[in-house]
Amino acid sequence: LPKVAVIGRPNGNRAIVVDEPGVTRDRLYGRSYWGDQEFMVIDTGGVITLSKSQAGVMEELAITTTVGMDGIPMASREAAIARMPSMIEKQAVAAVEEAAVLLFLVDGQAGLVAADIEIADWLRRNFSHKCIILAVNKCESPRKGQMQALEFWSLGFTPLPISAITGTGTGELLDMVCSELKKFEGLEGLDDVEEDENRVPAISIVGRPNVGKSSILNALVGEDRTIVSPVSGTTRDAIDTELTTVDGQKYKLIDTAGIRRRAAVASAGSTTETLSVKRAFSAIRRSDVVALVIEAMACVSEQDYKIAERIEKEGKACVIVVNKWDTIPNKNNESTTHYEQDVREKLRVLDWAPIVYCSAINGNSVEKIISAASLVEKERSRRLGTSILNQVVREAVAFKAPPRTRGGKRGRVYYTTQAAVRPPTFVLFVNDAKLFPEPYRRYMHKQLRSDAGFPGTPIRLLWRSRK
Ligand code: GDP
Repeated sequence: LPKVAVIGRPNGNRAIVVDEPGVTRDRLYGRSYWGDQEFMVIDTGGVITLSKSQAGVMEELAITTTVGMDGIPMASREAAIARMPSMIEKQAVAAVEEAAVLLFLVDGQAGLVAADIEIADWLRRNFSHKCIILAVNKCESPRKGQMQALEFWSLGFTPLPISAITGTGTGELLDMVCSELKKFEGLEGLDDVEEDENRVPAISIVGRPNVGKSSILNALVGEDRTIVSPVSGTTRDAIDTELTTVDGQKYKLIDTAGIRRRAAVASAGSTTETLSVKRAFSAIRRSDVVALVIEAMACVSEQDYKIAERIEKEGKACVIVVNKWDTIPNKNNESTTHYEQDVREKLRVLDWAPIVYCSAINGNSVEKIISAASLVEKERSRRLGTSILNQVVREAVAFKAPPRTRGGKRGRVYYTTQAAVRPPTFVLFVNDAKLFPEPYRRYMHKQLRSDAGFPGTPIRLLWRSRK
């Protein structure tokens, strides 16, 4: 996993928080991901827990440095404090050396201090060959943030105002980190998915409370298999059940429902709804296919949309399940089409996902979820022949050329290759990626989908300059 090292002076709470709009706030330390990029974040101040009080810091120093970094026993806590800067440096070196991206974090409210300049110098002196991103934290208001960030220009890096609390700028920051990591990794890292006949794809059943997730699971695997005893202190996120289809394909079913109830009881502080989204997110992460269940009468909610966005972002295949279809009276073709349009409209990020209508309560059409899941899982693992792929791209370019810049330059696609599956990921080698603006990229995305299919799975297009 590529590594990102966070560097900064040891002061204040440096935890960078990623804001999942209103839902969960994940700490960025440890294994992280953003879009399709996974990476490891190392806090170089790790020896010293920066969010702790000064007393806490002293406590920890006393423990970790009974013998100093250079083997000399520490005389006192005062001495330990005095040694802080050099300790951090030593601890930081290893992390910084193996990191692909260095995230230099400063405090926008405290302003520029001597320690920042020292760290900046140190980074420039030793690591100028690495990508260094300077993030100015505590810039809660974007406009004021720009002002707060101004003085940090003198450090010799471009300051990016962010706010760990409100999430302002953290998305942009992560985009920057990831685009750097992609460059760093090259393409080799992508193509590491081996075809494996014995793979057991995981299907998760997610959705809001009471939409019928457990009922669906029961209808699929039989009541007795899903009885969950409420073991206290369990840390498992979800209950997995294995399912074998009539044609012998095995699937792992990840249920998020049973756990939700226990969790809701266990932590009265969080709302059931919030918890269910959290559970959904962690289940999505472990899945190949996500069955997103909505209730026919209630249709799509904002929470469903958040889950849908996450499915797309994580590159998972998806089947939209409209459960309790029995509760909709007087159905006919027209009203069903109308209903479908409504769902499509509200779940636009999943416009590629098939919709299954079912009633878990009487078992109607529930098996269609599995056949749809099986189809989308195959699509997610599908490789497109190079010649067909290049033909599709060539035709798309012929039909609509990339826009010409004012200087008369125009993007050219040399060739395209599928670099990965799960999800299908295509790399377009071009003269200059900057010559392909976002609308054109969307157009290409759409063309590839309409010509090459891939129903039920997100696809990724990566644009690489090759000069
Ligand atoms: P979960 O919280 O998503 O796991 O939802 P449950 O499976 O516990 O179902 C919630 C309620 O909806 C239960 O009372 C079920 O009997 C009911 N239910 C589930 N599926 C259907 C269905 O297809 N039709 C109708 N009418 N009710 C259903």
